[in-house]
Amino acid sequence: MPTLSKRLSKGGESLIGKTFELALQLQAAGRTIHDLSKGEPDFPTDPHVAEAGRQAIARGFTKYTATDGDGRTKQAIRERLQALGHRHYDDAEIIIGNGGMAVLGHIGMTLLDAGDEVIVPAPYWPSHAGMVNMLQATARFVSCTTADRFKLQPAALRDALSDRTRCLILCSPNNPTGVVYSETELHALADVLHDFPDVWILSDEIYADIVFDSHPHASFAVVCPQLASRTVTLNGVSKGYAMTGWRIAYATGPADVMDGARQIMSHIGGSPSTIAQHATVAALEGAQTSLAERAAEYQRRRDTILSRLQPLNTLTIVAPAGAFYMFVDCTALIGMRTPDGTVIDSSIAFSQYLLTAEGVAVVPGEAFGAPGCFRICFAVSPATLESACSGLVSAVSALTPHQESPE
Ligand code: PMP
Repeated sequence: MPTLSKRLSKGGESLIGKTFELALQLQAAGRTIHDLSKGEPDFPTDPHVAEAGRQAIARGFTKYTATDGDGRTKQAIRERLQALGHRHYDDAEIIIGNGGMAVLGHIGMTLLDAGDEVIVPAPYWPSHAGMVNMLQATARFVSCTTADRFKLQPAALRDALSDRTRCLILCSPNNPTGVVYSETELHALADVLHDFPDVWILSDEIYADIVFDSHPHASFAVVCPQLASRTVTLNGVSKGYAMTGWRIAYATGPADVMDGARQIMSHIGGSPSTIAQHATVAALEGAQTSLAERAAEYQRRRDTILSRLQPLNTLTIVAPAGAFYMFVDCTALIGMRTPDGTVIDSSIAFSQYLLTAEGVAVVPGEAFGAPGCFRICFAVSPATLESACSGLVSAVSALTPHQESPE
């Protein structure tokens, strides 16, 4: 067989998919699985949004739009962003693509050449690292620990930056940790970036609509306008509007970057779904009440998990302030023994034990460049969450300290 492209050797498949496969196998064998591994809203798309999609088909809106999205959809995006404090974006400063992953790919191809260095704070969303690898750029991971509340610290950013750095990927609200950068924290990062004028900032804000405790989401482009000429913001309707399957996301930023992305889209990817763009206009321009209702429900679920898991002193938890993820540090469990005598030697081992013993599926931190942790997704029904929390508490409580037997 002829060889495959070199880019495949580095990208690799996501460990999230692997956990999902093991859960499916157990399910096929008759086990009930409490699945906290998948990262998508459990809510349906709002009826008025779905109806707009149906109407688009009925009215014959089934042809291509402009490569980088229809002007009408851009208008809805512009107005929604302005309502959230963004500046006015011209059509030339917006691209719309088939979902966040596709838009990230187009922007990545626009900004990066092979060999360029990209700073990726860890824990990271696997496709941020994957995208960098697929473009044969080099990810420079910067570890953010529980002591940093999983956030990139200005000093660590300064240490990682060099004349090889081409881009920083920020993600707030964050997948996998759910942490949200405050305005002050973004300012502190911007102060460092100010000294490195050749670095792009790619700010993934796809979870911007899901924030808790009445704290507004701080968008890097809004909070740090002095860096706007090198900031690209990613957002979309997948998560906040419960529209993952509609595949619409957008990027805003400098017109030159958007023009580059549009050129790439004209060869790879093509225009976003016309039907889904109609639904997106309905989502962005219609009543926004269910957006806040869903965020409030995610917050209640976060509180449920916190109240169940915080008493376990072997787990270290940074309470999420947005998205629908919690990242739990379980390093204290490593070295402990399961009831059948197996020693837990990694967070992968813990996740497998949790799945086989209690039917609870989580994703081990190794998938996010943060071994010793695991990710919980709480975009699941309260009943599933209750069962999963009970399973987690039982699994952790059943572990015993491992004592080497004297020879
Ligand atoms: N960014 C982050 C941080 C995500 O978690 C996801 C989805 N898991 C995306 C982007 C991509 O979203 P989409 O479903 O629109 O491709």
